[in-house]
Amino acid sequence: SLTLSKKASEVKPSSTLAITAKANELKAKGIDVVGFGAGEPDFNTPDNINQAAIKAINEGFTKYTPASGIEELKKAVCKKFKEFNHIEYNTNQVVISNGGKHSLTNIFTAILNPLDEVIIPAPYWLSYPEIVRLSNGVPVFIKGGKEQGYKVSAKQIEEACTDKTKALVLNTPNNPTGMVYLREELEAIAEVVIRKDIYVVADEMYENLIYGDKEHVSIASLNDEIYKRTITCSGVAKSYAMTGWRIGYTGSSVEIAKLMGSVQSHQTSNPNSIAQKATVEALLGNQDTIATMKEEFNKRREYMYDRVCNMPLLHTLEPEGAFYQFIDVSEVLEKEYKGSKIQTTEKLGAILIEDFNVAVIPCADFGFENHIRLSYAISIEKIKKGLDRIEDFLNQLK
Ligand code: PLP
Repeated sequence: SLTLSKKASEVKPSSTLAITAKANELKAKGIDVVGFGAGEPDFNTPDNINQAAIKAINEGFTKYTPASGIEELKKAVCKKFKEFNHIEYNTNQVVISNGGKHSLTNIFTAILNPLDEVIIPAPYWLSYPEIVRLSNGVPVFIKGGKEQGYKVSAKQIEEACTDKTKALVLNTPNNPTGMVYLREELEAIAEVVIRKDIYVVADEMYENLIYGDKEHVSIASLNDEIYKRTITCSGVAKSYAMTGWRIGYTGSSVEIAKLMGSVQSHQTSNPNSIAQKATVEALLGNQDTIATMKEEFNKRREYMYDRVCNMPLLHTLEPEGAFYQFIDVSEVLEKEYKGSKIQTTEKLGAILIEDFNVAVIPCADFGFENHIRLSYAISIEKIKKGLDRIEDFLNQLK
């Protein structure tokens, strides 16, 4: 019969799309919308990286490559893992894929059997549960409340473990909260993971974007036992303003890397040959533009945090990494706007876009009610304009 896949039908389309579609519709009508939804740097890809890609094309580097990526790039990734993350991987432990999202898909495909459980700390990046479900796994959520800095404790992870638990997802710096796990916290988590004998999927996509005196600690760097159980995942999208190039990579055991490589060889073959050459340049070339981007993000972060702290009804913690400000709007939802109570973050998002032309991300699909996410990957002028509008809205609430 002409029925469809139950698994595919159950995938929730990204909720952020509705707001983005509305914002685009208004923009097309010539309305000046401020979009705080961006999940990507607003900078251009640095020119040295672009030039490396152009050179690859001119030299005819435009054919199939080995499915799991070229040796030259794997070597560059190993160097970066060693110097930046303090993790030793050989090239046979590295798989290059079509973006961080694809790397995560490969990981869960390689480690999950039907009904295996994966612990996902909330707030979480909204794709984790869907990728786990598509890989026949079962997401199990634990909550990192505001009072614990939106992070989960080793004890919570331990309590969530059952005989079906296969892995823990650990995302630091975090999307959507901007929080960064401290070395001591990771040590405690590693101890539980080793004792429970499960995997850690360490998503370190935003590792380059950490501000102030916080340091990025990769859980796999802590000791040999946690190293064996960790699959470290990163990519160039956020750190190098390369979202469209679609390159992600993993470091894992040789065994897992082999499985991911074979799966990828049938599903997508190699990642784009030109983008692989561009990524070699991103990782090994001059890093000055990265430092400049980070400085700019930091200025915007400080400005946004300061403004949000001084607005009525909003509560937030200082973001330490990535480019997101996560805001508790519980008090706003209790208020009335144009005679009716706001109640949900979806409604709040709709009011802000329709009446104030500001697009924000309601975070129910990030596993957290009563919160919105604002991205500061837009210019400081736009941030100022958008926050002025939000403040104007807050002042109208009864
Ligand atoms: N992991 C996190 C936490 C992200 O926020 C994103 C992108 O939004 C990704 C992974 C995926 O990145 P990529 O664009 O490389 O697929």
